[in-house]
Amino acid sequence: MSKSNNPLNDPSKLSPATQLVHGGTERTPFGETSEALFLNSGYSYPSSEHAEKLFKGEVSGHNYSRFANPTLDMFQDRMALLEGAEAARSFATGMAAVTNAVMSQVRAGDHIVASRALFGGCRFVVEDFMPRWGVASTLVDGRDPENFARAMQPNTKVVFIETPTNPTLELVDIAAVAEIAHAHGAKLIVDNVFATSLYQKPLQLGADLVTYSATKHIDGQGRVLGGVVLGSKELITGDVHTFLRQTGATLSPFNAWLLLKGLETLPLRVKQMTESAARIADALADHPKIARVVYPHHKSHPQYDLAKRQMSAGSTLVALEVVGGREAAFKLSDSLAVILISNNLGDAKSLITHPGTTTHQRFTEEVRQESGIQPGLLRLSVGLEDSDDLIADLLYGLDQI
Ligand SMILES: *Cc1c(COP(=O)(O)O)cnc(C)c1O
Repeated sequence: MSKSNNPLNDPSKLSPATQLVHGGTERTPFGETSEALFLNSGYSYPSSEHAEKLFKGEVSGHNYSRFANPTLDMFQDRMALLEGAEAARSFATGMAAVTNAVMSQVRAGDHIVASRALFGGCRFVVEDFMPRWGVASTLVDGRDPENFARAMQPNTKVVFIETPTNPTLELVDIAAVAEIAHAHGAKLIVDNVFATSLYQKPLQLGADLVTYSATKHIDGQGRVLGGVVLGSKELITGDVHTFLRQTGATLSPFNAWLLLKGLETLPLRVKQMTESAARIADALADHPKIARVVYPHHKSHPQYDLAKRQMSAGSTLVALEVVGGREAAFKLSDSLAVILISNNLGDAKSLITHPGTTTHQRFTEEVRQESGIQPGLLRLSVGLEDSDDLIADLLYGLDQI
């Protein structure tokens, strides 16, 4: 941006759509309009003395792309603007981001409390890996904040939640859980993939760290994997940066460049997908072959009031339970012409998945039941197709049951 006194030179004064086109951009002397792709691992220095100062932190600059790269800087700065966070670090995948956020905050002897309805990989990290390294974990039903309060122990250092949850779109009250975590001296980490940064602001509600799988809405076109962790300058440039720097689950600059381009169209895409998702929830809610539709901003959602308070829109995912269990769910999915069978989400293409036999198949039937994953449950990630086509596709599928 120009060097005039225009107050809009301050990117924090801009609306999200503008921030996502311009925010974080650092132009090289060539003046390229699009963001430059720095596909390099190392850097050369003008002198040995300069290298020494750089490593001592006495001069600023980049020294190795595992933790310092201008294309990554642009992506991180743009994400931080959107989130209203002081700082961000990017990661190779969403799971690398979550693992860093959690592990950078604990050591052997500590305890974690998490909501039990979590993305499969996140639940694995908390439930299986953490205890292997001496960090105990307790999983609770996240719908009632009291469950977190009851699970807190003197050594609880992290509370980890996801809201809305995968795949049943249950909600966790972020502000209430933040208060409980802080009263016990623990940090709250929120996985905000399903709501997106456009519709839910965990840091404003009291979270300490927010994580994203950038693979989902941020890329939004099924091309690359990526992850982001955001929070205060202290946490991000401290624990999170150190863990990233020394363990190395770094985002590729090429993927960062694609994700920067993804961010430019994020508000347009997510708004369109959200409008279609709300239309689909309305169109299917009273269908005789549908046992329940779950959509955060649909009046039938059991936590509708919280959804309205915490999320500014219902976002892009809809859960449907069809009458007739697994057989009916398979029949519906297998009859679709436009919507693809896939466990990914946040894509331009609409994707449907049967969690019970895919993402959640490793769990026992008992765990699935307590998580609301009935045999007839399908999760639909609504894409950019015309919503009339999507509704027609689903109604045709329902007719085949
Ligand atoms: C996809 C996803 C992840 C993991 O992200 P990857 O990029 O696949 O590693 C974590 N949490 C949620 C809620 C997700 O949807």
